[in-house]
Formats: sequence, C-alpha cells, structure tokens
Amino acid sequence: MTSKHLETALIGVGRSKRYTQGAVNPVTQRASSLVFDTVAAKRQATAQRAHGELFYGRRGTLTHFALQDAMTELEGGAGCVLYPCGAAAVSNAILSFVSAGDHLLVTGSVYEPTQDFCTHILGRMNVATDYFDPLIGAGIAELIQPNTKVVFLESPGSITMEVQDIPAMVKAIRAVNPEIVIMIDNTWAAGVLFKALEFDIDISIQAGTKYIIGHSDYMLGTAVANARCWEQLREYSYLMGQMVDADTAYMASRGLRTLGVRLKQHQQNSIAVAQWLAERPEVAVVNHPALPGCKGHAFYQRDFSGCNGLFSFVLKQRLSEQQLADYLDNFRHFTMAYSWGGFESLILANQPEELDAIRPVGGVDFVGTLVRVHIGLENVQDLIDDLAAGFARIAS
Ligand SMILES: *Cc1c(COP(=O)(O)O)cnc(C)c1O
Repeated sequence: MTSKHLETALIGVGRSKRYTQGAVNPVTQRASSLVFDTVAAKRQATAQRAHGELFYGRRGTLTHFALQDAMTELEGGAGCVLYPCGAAAVSNAILSFVSAGDHLLVTGSVYEPTQDFCTHILGRMNVATDYFDPLIGAGIAELIQPNTKVVFLESPGSITMEVQDIPAMVKAIRAVNPEIVIMIDNTWAAGVLFKALEFDIDISIQAGTKYIIGHSDYMLGTAVANARCWEQLREYSYLMGQMVDADTAYMASRGLRTLGVRLKQHQQNSIAVAQWLAERPEVAVVNHPALPGCKGHAFYQRDFSGCNGLFSFVLKQRLSEQQLADYLDNFRHFTMAYSWGGFESLILANQPEELDAIRPVGGVDFVGTLVRVHIGLENVQDLIDDLAAGFARIAS
C-alpha cells in the first residue's frame, strides 16, 4: 500500500504513470477494440490478457486497471473484478462458486435483492439457501452441511444494522470446512472501515454505487478476492460478461480521492444525529453501530475503524398511514429515495410487519415504525431541526 494511513493511501492508489500518462488522474480510455501492431504483440496480449495487458474492452482498459489496482491495494486482495452494479457483484460472485446440488448460508438481515436472487435464481438451479441469525456467532458451525460451498455475510445487516462477530464466525466455519468460500457484502464499510480480507474472508463485495461513487450519479459493483479465490472469480465473472464502462470506472477512481474526508464527515454528522435521536422520547432504539443500543456494538468497536452516515431508529409507536405521510412528505433536507452513500441526506420508513415479512429468520423484535436515514454532508443542526419538526408532525 502507498501508505498504511487510509487518507494517504486513497490519494495515491491506482495513479501509476502507466495509468495517468502525465496527468494527475488516470486517463479515460474508452474502448471495445484494442489495436495490436504486430502478430507478436497480439500473441503477447492474448497470453497476458488477464494480467494487465490491453486485449479487448471486456477485459478492461487502462482506466479499469487503475481502479482495479486501487481497490486491490485498499482492500488487500489479489485482484478486483468490476461489475455494472452492486447487485451484479453479489450475484456473479456467488454464481462463480456454486454448482447444482450445493448449499449456501446467508445472513438473515441480508440486503433484500440478495435474498431474492438466492430464492429465484439459485433456487431454480437447485442450489439451496439457508439463512442464519446475524448474531449467531460461532453457532454457525452447526448449520454447515457437507455440500455447503459459500457463506455470505453482511455486517452491519441491512436496515436493522446488526453487527456480526465475524472473527468467531470465520474461525468456526474454517474449523468445519476450510474450503468454504466466505464472502461479505462490505458496502457499509466502503471496503475500508472493515478490512474483510484481514479477517480471513475470501471475497469482499461492494456496491461502489454508494460511497465510492459518492455522488448518487453512477452505478458500480466491485469484488476484491484473496489469492485462493481470485482466478476463479475473475474468469467466471468474465465468462458471465461482467464489465463496466470506462467513464464509470473513471468516476469511481475520482470518488476514492475524497472518500476519506467524506466518510469522516458522514461519521461525525451521523453520530451527532444518532445521539440526539437516542435522547428523544419518541424513539425506542437507535440502530447505529457506533452507539451502544445497536446489536453487536461491541463487535463494531473491536473490528471497525469508523462508521458512516447510514443507520436506523425505531419509533415507540407504529405510525398510521396518515402519520407516515405527514412525517415523510414534509422534510426540508431529507429526501426519500432508495440507495445511499451520496452527499445528501435520505429518509425511508418501514412498518414492522413489512420487515417481518422479508426476514427469513427470527423476524423483528419491535412494534414501532422503523426509520432509516442516511446522514449527508449538510449542517448537523439543520438536520436535527428537520427531524425535530418531523416529530412535531406526528405528535398525537
Ligand atoms: C445498494 C446495495 C447493493 C446493490 O447495489 P446496486 O449498485 O444498487 O446494485 C448491495 N448491497 C448493499 C448492502 C447495498 O446497500
């Protein structure tokens, strides 16, 4: 790594002279065809097509190589595959390692489209999925079957934010069968706040759409693999046609330069808002990994180097449809939208029964409406005032 300090590393990664060609940033090399001057050059490019030689657009151009090198270095892997979005990274990483008749273990608070992929696509291919309680810890060993090929983690979990005891889980899995491929959806950590591969996880997957792109304007998926899984992930993803355009790859490299300062500000703002929420009489619990009320908070403190802007909180009351509309339709700074990781604050709400219906294990243990916020880079007091006005609208 350019530096062991994240801030410095983010500035330097992927900016070798081969990629920048005298500029500060990597070139944007848009290409399908890449030209060979001689038969010998074509032969060399073909032999080295998976190792950074320009071969054909689907294998990448200098712009892609710059981003792949940067991600590989930041996450400490053997290589990085790029995908057109996070969902493609998740599905293709799993597909690269399962065959008909195999079994997969997936965290129960997984991102909902990942669950739907397991049900509708893997199910059709006779790959069975079982879900586990995100707080299962070493108990995951008991769920492993002889045909279990992949364990898929996501920590903190989607919407309810449970932080998993990953060292205990990885140790227990490896003790039963060291061949199992352990993957994590590491989007919340932006690949840098939790160093998945240092915890002996094989593949760290991200929706680069979120904090790497960071401005809500491009979609990207990344998967960084260790040496054991890199070749298979790279070749199988390639065979399934996974690639992203050069402009998106350029914007992702650009996003990395400010990732450090953005995350720090998201962290500062979100902790301030979360602490304010935790004191409010309307709030039953704040699911912010950096606050003690969050399930697995101790694991966050032990294993993460920081947090970001995304968390949720549960109201004491279940809002009526009218209250929900009064509450959500009238914020000044929080807008309603899926996704997160951009510069702006976002808000969405789920009724407990809606979440219960999509949770494959355990269900939810609360009765009030759950609100998920992404705290952006606005002034914190403006955001708090906005949330306070929201509470005033639902006061009975
Ligand atoms: C957004 C998201 C994805 C999917 O990413 P897209 O780029 O929208 O396909 C996957 N996992 C998590 C945790 C996400 O938040």
